[in-house]
Amino acid sequence: MSEETNGKQGKAQVDFICPENSCDGIVQFNLNECTTGKIQALCPKCHKPYVFDHELRQKFTKLQNLISAVRDAESILGDCCVSVDVPGGSVKVPYALLLTRLNTMLTLRVGDKTVDFHLWIEPSSPQTFR
Ligand SMILES: [Zn+2]
Repeated sequence: MSEETNGKQGKAQVDFICPENSCDGIVQFNLNECTTGKIQALCPKCHKPYVFDHELRQKFTKLQNLISAVRDAESILGDCCVSVDVPGGSVKVPYALLLTRLNTMLTLRVGDKTVDFHLWIEPSSPQTFR
């Protein structure tokens, strides 16, 4: 995963609610940057800095690999659907829609707290939804 390909991958933004006492600031960071270990996420409200340790970065790296695999398959994903059974029949949800329009959440333990990381991904091509 080189720096040069990052531009083509679209954005993968992650945010989480600051778990500090009574702080509900939304801490945001870029997934691509956090896996390299270069960044520190900062809570905009209480200004607490978050540094991701090796274990957490490994999890984010796996997540990033998953996103890359999905992006790789984007051209065929437009033709793939998930069929969901509902009363009276079934509804087909296109994969591309499922992956980008629904919230993807990763719940991880950080220290002694459980933190929900929300993932926001954009398709590398806007054509995916045509
Ligand atoms: Zn905070």
